[in-house]
Amino acid sequence: MYIDTHCHLNFKDFKDDADEVIKRSLDNQTEMILVGAEYKTSERAVDYANKYGKGVYAAIGLHPIHLEDIMVKHEGDEGNYEFHSRAEEFDYDKYFKLAKDNKKVVAIGEIGLDYFHIDQEKDIEAVKAKQQKVFKELLLLAHNLNLPVIIHCREAHQDLLPIMQEFYQQYKKDQVKEWGVIHCFSGDEALAEEYRKLNLMISFTGLVTFAKNWDSVIRNFPLEKIMIETDAPYMAPTPFRGKRNEPLYVQYVAQKIGELKGLNQAEVGDKTHKNAQRIFGI
Ligand SMILES: [Zn+2]
Repeated sequence: MYIDTHCHLNFKDFKDDADEVIKRSLDNQTEMILVGAEYKTSERAVDYANKYGKGVYAAIGLHPIHLEDIMVKHEGDEGNYEFHSRAEEFDYDKYFKLAKDNKKVVAIGEIGLDYFHIDQEKDIEAVKAKQQKVFKELLLLAHNLNLPVIIHCREAHQDLLPIMQEFYQQYKKDQVKEWGVIHCFSGDEALAEEYRKLNLMISFTGLVTFAKNWDSVIRNFPLEKIMIETDAPYMAPTPFRGKRNEPLYVQYVAQKIGELKGLNQAEVGDKTHKNAQRIFGI
């Protein structure tokens, strides 16, 4: 059994065939968490999760790039993408209502800091400050709802780590269960260890199937603290690079982790599925 803990079938890339993609995954032992990036896509993630029974879950959140009005354009290993982000004001009550009393909403995410996509024409320090302020509000939202967080962090670990350390000290140090995951983990072993000390997990995408940067982190980090994801439609693994990604391909991430840890693919699938059940309460 597999679970893709982070995919965006609620994005427009899947507007014509999300149901087919979901069914194809469920028919092949692959569950999934659909992750929102702004209110609209969070709502859509919840709609899909509600429509299906076991195996399809939602996370709701406001991604840092959606705090600004910018054109986002990127070409690279993560896939090519281009979209217009309209600035959204974070509305705590709206998100609270969307999550409250719905068992299919299993996390707040994706939330975090993204300094990579900041428009260089803007007041960079002001943009960073706003991202940090909203991120802290979203951490508190998750805490008040008793939900874990799915964290996005791009070129901002130097600011994200201290925020997480402070939050842990204030609210989470007595909690036995993990309270969040650093999605698409981009750091080194030392940084992974810092997050582990805060009782957080890390998760890996198809990037690890073709980039060797994380081989040693994966070899040495305990499998009990690792989850797998696709980040579909982005980050398609080998042998699908450059194509639209989908939850079914999460097995290639499991295969790669298995190779590095001397385990078989199914074992990695089952163990990371257990980890997800534990942290997301599913
Ligand atoms: Zn994502």
